[in-house]
Amino acid sequence: MSNLETFRQETRAWLEANCPESMRTPVTMDTQIWGGRHVTFQTEDQRLWFERMRDKGWFVPDWPKEYGGGGLSPEEHQILKEEMKRLKCRPPQVNLGVWMVGPVLLEFGTEEQKREHLPKIARGEIRWCQGYSEPGAGSDLASLQTKAVRDGDHWIVNGSKIWTSYADHSDWIYCLVRSNPDAPKRDGISFLLFDMQSEGVSVKPIQLTNGDSHFCQTFLDNVRVPVKDTVGEIDKGWTVAKRVLEFERAMMAELEDSAGRPVYTPADVAKEVIGLQDGKIADPLIRDRVVQNAMNHHAFQTMTRRVMDEFAAGDWGAAMTAMTFKYCGTEEEKRKYQLLLDILGERGLGWEGEVFEKRDLGITRDWLSAYTHTIAGGTSEIQLNIIAKRVLGLPD
Ligand SMILES: Cc1cc2nc3c(=O)[nH]c(=O)nc-3n(C[C@H](O)[C@H](O)[C@H](O)COP(=O)(O)OP(=O)(O)OC[C@H]3O[C@@H](n4cnc5c(N)ncnc54)[C@H](O)[C@@H]3O)c2cc1C
Repeated sequence: MSNLETFRQETRAWLEANCPESMRTPVTMDTQIWGGRHVTFQTEDQRLWFERMRDKGWFVPDWPKEYGGGGLSPEEHQILKEEMKRLKCRPPQVNLGVWMVGPVLLEFGTEEQKREHLPKIARGEIRWCQGYSEPGAGSDLASLQTKAVRDGDHWIVNGSKIWTSYADHSDWIYCLVRSNPDAPKRDGISFLLFDMQSEGVSVKPIQLTNGDSHFCQTFLDNVRVPVKDTVGEIDKGWTVAKRVLEFERAMMAELEDSAGRPVYTPADVAKEVIGLQDGKIADPLIRDRVVQNAMNHHAFQTMTRRVMDEFAAGDWGAAMTAMTFKYCGTEEEKRKYQLLLDILGERGLGWEGEVFEKRDLGITRDWLSAYTHTIAGGTSEIQLNIIAKRVLGLPD
């Protein structure tokens, strides 16, 4: 038996023995666990699953062991993902530290920064948020105006960030600031890390259309940040910021396919809600759209899988392609939820209340969320601009 086959069998056996039954059911926004200083569990099973995966180093399976990771090779990591998906295991925690700031620290961080932050991320002890967007800088992020002025060994930071997801629950932030107002706009930006408890940081939640309130505006008023907490070179933070966006977009392309999310298949919902005629979905127009959707989904999954393997093996060309998948994946997700809503008809008009089935309410809310995924991490229009310039090489 090959080493990888042995690893698969051991992983399968470990997951079967250690993932509690209740952690093999779809996870919702309300039941997902966010790591951090104030991590809370609704059930004992959630705690067990969190602690067992943490102790195995499998919050970050592919990070080096010296920083608290699982030390798995890309192939082993892929096997772990497949086995978790097979068993329908929930992600044991959710944390931007794992998806975004950790990977850039591995690439750009000093040894001191790695030793300070990576083990805490690997153990789910610190929850991170992203301070990029500002009221006047979204798609045109490089126009950001939050200022950092040098005062000896510290930066003094002033300004405000907007759409900072979960800032009110986060422990640390990675934040883009203008450290050199005289340089061309992409050259005068630095990438800072600081504690959300620092004096001068305050947050105000913003309500969303789907009922959630995970957005905040984050105000920074004379916040003192040690210069040693600058990631990458001073004034060269744009390079680090772009890498974070590559990780974010690759992660978002995979969103629909992540282990533990409820999967609403248009074919199943249509069979139940519309019914069958001669063994086929009774409405021919819906049937046609269901087939289109299934074909697109399959093709997209196959392509994503190939590119993610290349990406995991360190091929940054593949990272670029993965970024284009953010556009395809999130737009396809939006079309899928539009189709699901059309299948549900008036059953999909529910927002809350006992007369509506839980699944149907879930679909309506996910339909709204699907729109936000085409905006977060860079809008679809901006992805098309990037694909035109950087992938197809078209002129400005
Ligand atoms: C769910 C969600 C979570 C988010 N979380 C965070 C977070 O944690 N931290 C953070 O910093 N930000 C976060 N954001 C903000 C997000 O990054 C911005 O919303 C996004 O970059 C768009 O910026 P904007 O909202 O200012 O829109 P704008 O940039 O004002 O764009 C408005 C419209 O104009 C279009 N447009 C703009 N420029 C061009 C162009 N050159 N060519 C073609 N079309 C163009 C856009 O596509 C869009 O349709 C989040 C957003 C969402 C939806």
